[in-house]
Amino acid sequence: MFTFCFINFITFSSFAQNQQEYYTKKLETYFSKDHKVKDFVRINETGISIFDGNSSVLEIKLNWVEVSVLSHVISTISEPELKKLLIDKKDSLQFYLNRDSIKERSSPHSLKGMKIAIDPGHIGGAYHMGETESRCMTLNIDSTKKIQLVEGNLSFFTAMILKHKLDSMGAQVMLTRPDTGISSLGISFFEWKEKIKNKTYLDSLRKNNLLSEKALHALNEHLPDKVLFTDVFSSIDMAARAKKINAFQPDITVIIHYNVNEKNTGWNHTTDKDFVMAFVPGCTTSEDLKTLAGRLNFLRLLLSPDIENSVNLSSAVAKNISSKLNVPLAGKEDATYLSERCLSTPAKGVYSRDLALTRLIKGPLVYGEPLYQDNAQECILLTTPNSDRLKLVAEAYFEGILEYIEAK
Ligand SMILES: [Zn+2]
Repeated sequence: MFTFCFINFITFSSFAQNQQEYYTKKLETYFSKDHKVKDFVRINETGISIFDGNSSVLEIKLNWVEVSVLSHVISTISEPELKKLLIDKKDSLQFYLNRDSIKERSSPHSLKGMKIAIDPGHIGGAYHMGETESRCMTLNIDSTKKIQLVEGNLSFFTAMILKHKLDSMGAQVMLTRPDTGISSLGISFFEWKEKIKNKTYLDSLRKNNLLSEKALHALNEHLPDKVLFTDVFSSIDMAARAKKINAFQPDITVIIHYNVNEKNTGWNHTTDKDFVMAFVPGCTTSEDLKTLAGRLNFLRLLLSPDIENSVNLSSAVAKNISSKLNVPLAGKEDATYLSERCLSTPAKGVYSRDLALTRLIKGPLVYGEPLYQDNAQECILLTTPNSDRLKLVAEAYFEGILEYIEAK
C-alpha cells in the first residue's frame, strides 16, 4: 500500500509539475505584452488562481485536476454558466465536471458535416460606404489611371468563393453578413442610423452594455457619419458578429481581411511592400481584465486549447497563402503594430493580437490578412476582370483548413 501511494504521489507530482510548466510558458508566450496581466493570475504548484486586480481578492482557485478537466470543456460553457460554476457555486464544480453529458468541443476529421463560420471583414458596398468605414482607397497609377478598392467587397467576394468550395465538400457554412453593403445586423449602416432613433432599440443596446456613456454622448452630438461609425456603430457590429458566430458553435472560424502598408498613409499611391500575416487570440490587456466577464474570458483563453489550435490553423492558412500568391510571411519588424501591439507565436507570420473578434470568438480561428491592397502589383491584379487573385486566396484558405483537419 505504501508503494502504491508513493507511486501515485510521484505520478501526481510530475503531472502537477508538467501542468505548471505548460501554463507558465503559455502565460509568457501569449499574455506577456501587458505586464499588469500578472496581477490578475497566479500559477504555482497547487494550480491556477485568478484575482480581482483592484483589491487583489482571490476570485477563482482551481487545482491541477480541475484545470485539466475544465480545459476540455471551458470553451463550450456559456459565460453565465461559467460564472455560476466557478464563483457562485464553487462546490458544484467537481459534480459538473464528472457529468456524462459534459460537452467537449468536437474536432472533426473531415469537412463533411463540419461547421465553419466565415466573417468577411468590414461592410463594403458603394465607395461612399467604404469612405464612411475608412476602408477604401483611390490609388493614382499614372497621370491617366486610378484604381479604387473597397476592402469590404474584396473580403465578401473571397468569403463567397470559399463558402462555395466548403459547401461542395459537405461543410455547414455560416456567413456573418449576407451581402456587400450590409452589416452583420442585417441592415446597412445608413438604415441603422434610422434604427438608433428608436428608443426601444437604444434601451436594448444600453441593457446589453453595447453603448458606453461616450458613445451615447456621441449619438446626441449629431456627428459626421465617419465618426459615428468609428465611435458607436463599429463596436455594435463587432459584438453582433461575435454573438452570431458563438451561437452557431462552429468547429472553426475564418475571418477574412485585406491589409495595407500602414506607412503609406493617405493610400493614394502604391507601395512595393507586400506581406501575409494572420492573427490569433491572446495579448489580453489588463484593461480587459477589469470586468468579471473579461477575467472569465481570459481564463477560457488560458485553459482551453483555443489559442494553440488557432495557431495551427492560421499557420496552415498563412503558409498556403504565401506559397500560392508568392507573398512573404511578415516578420515582427515588417510592421510597427506587429512589434508594438502583438506577440510572436511559434508559427512564422502568425501573431497573437487582442482584437475584438480574436478576443470574443470561442474555438479555433484564423484572422487572415493575405496581402497589401496598395501594393503596385496587387492593386492591378485585384481589379483586373476575371483576375484569379481572390480565387487563389480562397483556395489557400481552403487548403489550409484541410491541412489543419488532417493534422488533428
Ligand atoms: Zn480589414
